[in-house]
Amino acid sequence: MNKTFDVVVIGAGPGGYIAAIRAAQLGMNVACIDEWKNAAGGPAPGGTCTNVGCIPSKALLQSSEHFEQANHHFADHGIDIKGISLDVERMVGRKDAVVKQNNEGILYLFKKNKVTFMHGRGSFVSSGPEGFGIQVSGANSEQITAKQVVVATGSNARALASAPFDEEHILSNDGALRIGAVPKRLGLIGSGVIGLEMGSVWRRLGAEVTVLEGLPTFLGAVDEQIAKEAKKAFDKQGLKIELGVQVGEIQVAKKGKHTEVHVAYKNAKGESFALEVDKLIVSIGRVPNTVGLNPEAVGLKLDERGAVVVDEECRTSVPGIWAVGDVVRGPMLAHKAEEEGVAVAERMAGQHGHVNFNTIPWVIYTSPEIAWVGQTEQQLKASGRAYKAGTFPFLANGRARALGDTTGMVKMLADAVTDEILGVHIVGPMASELIAECVMAMEFRASSEDIARICHAHPSLSESTKEAALAVDKRTLNF
Ligand SMILES: Cc1cc2nc3c(=O)[nH]c(=O)nc-3n(C[C@H](O)[C@H](O)[C@H](O)COP(=O)(O)OP(=O)(O)OC[C@H]3O[C@@H](n4cnc5c(N)ncnc54)[C@H](O)[C@@H]3O)c2cc1C
Repeated sequence: MNKTFDVVVIGAGPGGYIAAIRAAQLGMNVACIDEWKNAAGGPAPGGTCTNVGCIPSKALLQSSEHFEQANHHFADHGIDIKGISLDVERMVGRKDAVVKQNNEGILYLFKKNKVTFMHGRGSFVSSGPEGFGIQVSGANSEQITAKQVVVATGSNARALASAPFDEEHILSNDGALRIGAVPKRLGLIGSGVIGLEMGSVWRRLGAEVTVLEGLPTFLGAVDEQIAKEAKKAFDKQGLKIELGVQVGEIQVAKKGKHTEVHVAYKNAKGESFALEVDKLIVSIGRVPNTVGLNPEAVGLKLDERGAVVVDEECRTSVPGIWAVGDVVRGPMLAHKAEEEGVAVAERMAGQHGHVNFNTIPWVIYTSPEIAWVGQTEQQLKASGRAYKAGTFPFLANGRARALGDTTGMVKMLADAVTDEILGVHIVGPMASELIAECVMAMEFRASSEDIARICHAHPSLSESTKEAALAVDKRTLNF
């Protein structure tokens, strides 16, 4: 007889594994199926985020930042180091160890919360009064029954039709995170979050990086003033970013013993160029993944992008089947997937799970970091909402000076009448951490005056948030 579960979660990325744990905490009998394999063929739960996304990219960003600091900034502190060398294999090995710790952590959490983990591919087989039939195909194949299902199958990197990933010369995020030696010349197509982070890693390690972006504006989703400030910093670092380009033919070609990638492109003026690089990272977005899920077997509706169609509360077109994370609409972010996973588990338990899409923070972990929550100045202008803006530069912050990192600013936008905070945008040191206070303030519908009246530790970068709030009322104290 098939094993029957109250809930089966397909996918153990941040959306799926968190949904499984929360559902188990709420007393349901839960199984979570995931097919990701580590190098030895064993289970590697955690999805894109843990294996080839958030975690490994931040590990390499940290390592490469240490290298950059040691090479270029330690001397400012009176620390001279001679003979700095780089062992990329060891750096990538450390990254792999961090990934493994996270994989193992999730397996431990499953055990702790009594979630049955199944390593293999989950495919819908049937639906009937007893529940949904799901085939698990892995080392041990079996069919199981689920009263309710959460689809959390994530996304895959979008490839260029003319230049599929070979992960040797034309790389997705996966290949970009395991390059074995620093390429002399690295090309990047796409200057989104992932492209900028990957470009930063390899530039810091010594690659000459050229980014080709099709859009005419840099980081179009970011507040214009913040994007401009970030672009200035990236230009100064030597990251070459060309906007408004049209990419043409891409060829992998042998040049003597060496293989290189040739990218033909037209610049914004329509002039033709050829870029020759040793590796090319294509980072032009991600597509929802339902490969192998067999959604037709249960009549699950997908949209034209291949995303599972859901309502505001992650209900799919089939009652009893839910979907969360990158495989549905909305920002492709790990914490958005997690929030949806928790909310769905609580809804399945009859509670009122909730996700506030207006207060989901965004972070780009470059140097300087870029982080924001809420609306940009250009969005407020377009919507006709009357607002006040306050900015405070890190140049005037004592902690930033002590750190030796004074790039950027905090910018706060508040309603002109009620003073409610509508958006906060940060470019600068530790923006990823500073944004948390702003998310909380917006979640509690705080005014800029609320932040301005809160005592912030001195000296701390967070004083810049307080000062930006004071600036909304034109009364900064330190600038
Ligand atoms: C380089 C990079 C850096 C990123 N950095 C960040 C960051 O810093 N912060 C952030 O918030 N987001 C970041 N992201 C995005 C983040 O990784 C995703 O938004 C997040 O992983 C989505 O979670 P998910 O659970 O929806 O799907 P995923 O993490 O993609 O997990 C889906 C899982 O389902 C499994 N699966 C799929 N189909 C089946 C099936 N039929 N049967 C069994 N298993 C199946 C897959 O193997 C996978 O393990 C980054 C992404 C990339 C590529």
